[in-house]
Amino acid sequence: MKRLMLCRGIGTTPLKGGVIPNLFLFFRSGQYVHEEPVILRPHVLQTCQGFRLQTTFHEALVKAADHDQTYLATLKVLLKGDSKVDINFGIEKDLLLYKNRWYIPKDEGLRRTIMEAEHDSKIAGHFGTDKTIDMVRANFYWPKMDEHITEYVRSCDVCQRNKVIRHKKYGLLEPLEVPMRPWTAISMDFIVGLPKSEGYTKIWVIIDRFSKMAHFI
Ligand SMILES: [Zn+2]
Repeated sequence: MKRLMLCRGIGTTPLKGGVIPNLFLFFRSGQYVHEEPVILRPHVLQTCQGFRLQTTFHEALVKAADHDQTYLATLKVLLKGDSKVDINFGIEKDLLLYKNRWYIPKDEGLRRTIMEAEHDSKIAGHFGTDKTIDMVRANFYWPKMDEHITEYVRSCDVCQRNKVIRHKKYGLLEPLEVPMRPWTAISMDFIVGLPKSEGYTKIWVIIDRFSKMAHFI
């Protein structure tokens, strides 16, 4: 959350050490934490840029919206001012909002980019399903979003490789002691799945580890 708040505070004002790209398009008005331009230290700035807050997001959203008929239809109805439409919908910069979050059109690439930014990026750090859902939900919405994110996190290659080990560390393999006399050390096994013979289907095999003498019981 801290990261989001920091990122939302960025303005377009040229700052010491460089000009910040126009990042506001990523967020809705009223969502900015700071009214005044904020001077960010370079490492904070780097973090925000790593979060891919770029104007290309706006362009991608507009492009994806053009191909989603449901999205366009809802937008059209809203623009007409039809009162029948779900009150959770809204419009900003000619784009659809749902519960004051960007409504992401049906575009696998764009949805994937968002999930990647919130899960895979250096500062997202591969959080679990719930946390990733929370982070995506802070700014975005699309139908069945939770299911998509759950599936995305579940199939994340990095997460699967870095599962937390919950058992004690394995020790080294230790050889068995060498027996010095017969019948001081034995090994045993069962032979199972045999055809019935006098009512029995298994054989208990006991072997002396010194002489290799075997008993079949
Ligand atoms: Zn992951």
